[in-house]
Amino acid sequence: MTQSLTYAPPAHTANPELDARRREVRPVVAVLVAVGSVLAAEDAAINDMTAHLPPSPATSPCALCSSETWPCARFQDAAARITARGLRADDVVPAELHPILWPSPTPRPTPAQERYEAAWPKP
Ligand SMILES: [Zn+2]
Repeated sequence: MTQSLTYAPPAHTANPELDARRREVRPVVAVLVAVGSVLAAEDAAINDMTAHLPPSPATSPCALCSSETWPCARFQDAAARITARGLRADDVVPAELHPILWPSPTPRPTPAQERYEAAWPKP
């Protein structure tokens, strides 16, 4: 049996200012991967992307780069590093934020559709 290590900020403390700042933190989960894997090699980029995610789609400024709107430059740089290694940046981003990053009116292909299209490319 495995158990995920998650972190979510506490909902309330005795300090309203601290409560407001903690609401700016998106809950996260820790994942273990083998050293030598592509994911392990790109852990810093994945951590950077995750750290710079806004707590909700309605939050436009980055919580860490408060002077920048999201997606901030550090998020975009981390996403570029991940995609350069052949990983999918959208796998690191919660689905609720996908329309902000990829505002396409066409639906994104499912993994099964991607495998089919890779196996049977259009002429
Ligand atoms: Zn940022």
